Amino acid sequence: KRYHNKMTTARPRITQDIERHPGRHNNQAILKVIQEKIMEEKDRRPFYIVNLDDIVNKHKHWVKLMPRVKPFYAVKCNNTEPVVKTIAALGAGFDCASSAEFQQVLNQGVGTDRIIYAHPCKDPQDIKRASEQGVDLMTFDNKYELIKIQSLFPDARLVLRICPQVNKGVYEYGEMYGCAVDQCKVLLEKAKEMTLVVVGVSFHIGGFCFDSMAYQNTIRLCREIFDEAKAIGYNFSLLDIGGGFPGYAVKGKPTFADVAKDINTALDEYFPKEENVVVIAEPGTYYVQSAFTLALRVIGKRVQRSAPSDKEKDKMPVYQSTLWGPTLSPTDLLVQNILLPELDIGDWLYVPNMGAYTTVLATSFNGIARPELFCLVSDEIKAGRGI
Ligand code: PLP
Repeated sequence: KRYHNKMTTARPRITQDIERHPGRHNNQAILKVIQEKIMEEKDRRPFYIVNLDDIVNKHKHWVKLMPRVKPFYAVKCNNTEPVVKTIAALGAGFDCASSAEFQQVLNQGVGTDRIIYAHPCKDPQDIKRASEQGVDLMTFDNKYELIKIQSLFPDARLVLRICPQVNKGVYEYGEMYGCAVDQCKVLLEKAKEMTLVVVGVSFHIGGFCFDSMAYQNTIRLCREIFDEAKAIGYNFSLLDIGGGFPGYAVKGKPTFADVAKDINTALDEYFPKEENVVVIAEPGTYYVQSAFTLALRVIGKRVQRSAPSDKEKDKMPVYQSTLWGPTLSPTDLLVQNILLPELDIGDWLYVPNMGAYTTVLATSFNGIARPELFCLVSDEIKAGRGI
């Protein structure tokens, strides 16, 4: 489940500087580092291994597969310092949802031209802060947001966020965000009447959206809105195709390469290069999910049914098991009914692909200590990128 570890993975402390490890970091290498960490300190608490090479490789892969689409990393997905620092060094842009996020990014020396303030419902204080800092590209999806922006930052460059064309069953936002397609024209007319500067269209299909037609259908719709805007007197120059790109390959589901291919085709058809429309995206999960591996220690155990005898154990080496986080909350359920070998107090488990919406959704509930981050980067990447 996407948020399954939210209770236990409280915001990490970075207690160590980034460690340099020669060579590439495949799964075996990560496991070896986990083992070393466990051996180093017998009673170590849970920790993450962060493979920064993985983030760099993801970026390279993106640039290769979708050269027309400039990534603006969605900070909300994982705002830990090594992640933001690495992505800043790679030259990507940033999608920020609050003034705290754009301040964090600006502190890394990122220019305002590399930031989109992509929250359609902004705190007025944050709009003021954006105006002071010159973070002038921001999204909106209704007239009340326009009224706020007009009074606090009338020169802002606005991007209309629309409701994507996604199969309803898999769209996680419902009617929460995005202007309904049949309302876009009226809203753009309103913006024009208010003399606001609207520069383009954005959408976000949502995470874990496996509707393979979603990007294509919505890009086609964006073309129609570009044309409608022209009739109203706007000359749009920006298309923002949001996030929702897979962080690792899931069997039977479209891969990043599949999605990239569909997007490239749709862009060539509806936004040919000669038009010089700037195309950006807001990937979060894609950049960080596979870079984080969580190592967990078993601190308690309870046998619900009678334990099998030694003779039965040989026949049945795995058991229906449930893993709970360390707090007293009944919602602190990590995973239910999975088959595991018998675990004992002091055993360690490791969980790959834990970089997206984990550390950021942590709580300090029960005062449970926060997992540390141990970052790895190869000499090659560190030297090449100044990370
Ligand atoms: N853009 C917006 C507006 C979002 O709300 C989100 C996630 O909630 C993202 C981008 C990142 O999505 P993902 O992590 O699925 O790429």
